[in-house]
Amino acid sequence: MSASIFTTLFLVALGLYSAVQLWLANRHYRYVASHRSEVPEAFIDQIDIEAHQKAADYTLAKTSLERIEIFIGAGILLAWTLGGGLQWLDSVWATSELSTLWIGTGFLLSLFALLSLIDIPMSIYRTFVLEEKFGFNRTTVKTFITDQIKQLFLLILIGTPLIAAVLWLMGNMGELWWLWVWAVWTGFGLLMMWAYPTFIAPLFNKFKPLEDGSLKQRIQDLMTRCGFTSNGIFIIDGSKRSGHGNAYFTGLGQNKRIVFFDTLIESLSTDEIEAVLAHELGHFKRKHITKRIFSMAIFSLTGLAILGWLITQEWFYAGLGVTTPSLHAALALFLIALPVFTFFLHPLTSWFSRKHEFEADAYAAEVSSAEYLTKALVKLYEENANTLTPDPLYSAFHDSHPPAAVRIAHLTR
Ligand SMILES: [Zn+2]
Repeated sequence: MSASIFTTLFLVALGLYSAVQLWLANRHYRYVASHRSEVPEAFIDQIDIEAHQKAADYTLAKTSLERIEIFIGAGILLAWTLGGGLQWLDSVWATSELSTLWIGTGFLLSLFALLSLIDIPMSIYRTFVLEEKFGFNRTTVKTFITDQIKQLFLLILIGTPLIAAVLWLMGNMGELWWLWVWAVWTGFGLLMMWAYPTFIAPLFNKFKPLEDGSLKQRIQDLMTRCGFTSNGIFIIDGSKRSGHGNAYFTGLGQNKRIVFFDTLIESLSTDEIEAVLAHELGHFKRKHITKRIFSMAIFSLTGLAILGWLITQEWFYAGLGVTTPSLHAALALFLIALPVFTFFLHPLTSWFSRKHEFEADAYAAEVSSAEYLTKALVKLYEENANTLTPDPLYSAFHDSHPPAAVRIAHLTR
């Protein structure tokens, strides 16, 4: 393939990627706006018109922002590739006295740092304008700034050895280097899953063990009933940053934690919390986490095998605006241009995720209560101002969770 053909291919893919996203966002916008005046039939007794309209307005504001972000994202990608951004960054590092390995590591670290720096204005707008306007923002300027600093610190601390190891393997393991990189990458992913709850998450939030009492008793009874062991039930101060409530599971093996946002504990009854936890346990019991790890491993193996081939093709660099091929440039191009080409897989992963949600709901109905899970979901939809009327196509493409009406219909039938 010639470089100019690959450039054309990339531009067509990027055009398609942006056009499809824009088209879906427009559909979603129109659909939510046209359903703003009435609460859907199924929710008429549970949700009042003010809450419904707040959810619609919030969704419209988020969708407007999404439309702008599609353009900004495409612009940034073009600037880094065909605009010569990566080539420029490479030439800056090339003047240093460092070895190739450390030039490559520095190049990638600074690229990631710059990418998150570019994202900061948007992040400020999202937090302090959009979320603020709808009453969800609790992040102070101080928290925002310290979060950015902590993230940069983690990038350097964790990124440096990982990137250096990957580049070293790429340069020293012969043609099958991608198998070695895959092993390191997968091992690293598992290590992070294991380490995240104990070492990383506490840097950003306070974890408080759930106090003894009727709620803790109910949760422990449920876990015994389900044959589940964890190394603790925690409440985190999610309210430090946002009014949105959530519950999740984290960790691997013996290092599993159940985590409730304080905002969730405040708004749900004991019965409802039990039902929400039963849903989370359902993900574990139906082996969704194992399945996800497995499919990610297959996905990254395929990706790395493709990269193993691309790295030897001159058109891959030249076609994306890099005139001096190198291992680190290949890695950077691959990471930033990949989403444009794998975009069509997105509806498939969303579909699997929604399938898992239904299975976890069914499990919760079995071991806890469908009625309380429904009540909890309606409350969470209302409090998080999630729309009850997403555009069906937009939702099918993007959403990891089924639309409220469909989900609740499944639970109550
Ligand atoms: Zn779930």
